[in-house]
Amino acid sequence: MNEIRKKIVAANWKMNTTVTQGEKLVEDILLHLPGELNCTVIIAPPFTHLPMLVKKVEGTKICSAAQNCHQDKSGAFTGEISVDMLSDLGVNYVIIGHSERRQLFHEDNEIIKLKLDAVLAAGLLPIFCCGEPLDIRESETQNIFVHQQLEESLFHLHKDDFAKVCIAYEPIWAIGTGVTASPEQAQEMHMFIRDKIAIRYNKFVSETTRILYGGSIKADNAKTLFSQDDVDGGLVGGASLNSAGFLDIIRAACG
Ligand code: PEP
Repeated sequence: MNEIRKKIVAANWKMNTTVTQGEKLVEDILLHLPGELNCTVIIAPPFTHLPMLVKKVEGTKICSAAQNCHQDKSGAFTGEISVDMLSDLGVNYVIIGHSERRQLFHEDNEIIKLKLDAVLAAGLLPIFCCGEPLDIRESETQNIFVHQQLEESLFHLHKDDFAKVCIAYEPIWAIGTGVTASPEQAQEMHMFIRDKIAIRYNKFVSETTRILYGGSIKADNAKTLFSQDDVDGGLVGGASLNSAGFLDIIRAACG
């Protein structure tokens, strides 16, 4: 186990489960959660589930997260949720810049930067997603691509704010596809990101920043991915919807 960086396992339920189903899933996870939990477990359900989740996990080792937020404080933005609404509920984290938000809802680096600032201003903790599409990986320009995402959305932060950010590297070609980045590919990119953080901030900040991997993590590949030097846990989509599978991933991170 890395002594400086406690691992994080975060579940992204996306637009899945009703509140009733979600409640059962949380109960199953809580029931079998290892007693000696030396990693952080986060659950990001749909917005409608957050009051239930916050209540259920109170006094437990599980943290809550929203999957998105709006960048403005309030106003005429039909269908949107503000950071103040989330913090009022007692939510801990907010996922920002997930590739589905970028691709399906046209969020660019500038909007993601504004969302990040809003999350931090509200006292919430951001999970900042980055990662390249398949054509960029095939042209071997993924480092340039990810570096630009960091520069344009993240590296404007002051060191003290940056220290609150958790990064999730999620190659788009691996999300929901069943194709996982190899442990070597994940390690290579995580090391690259950590190097860029050291250059922008300093060595201490780079060594204490948690960088999660996301993309088709399952119980059977989690351990190898999490054992890479610069992989500090995972953001788990599909496999987090099954309590037994998700608990195995938690054990892989905490074991
Ligand atoms: C995700 O949605 O962040 C994700 C990594 O999904 P999956 O695990 O299903 O690839």
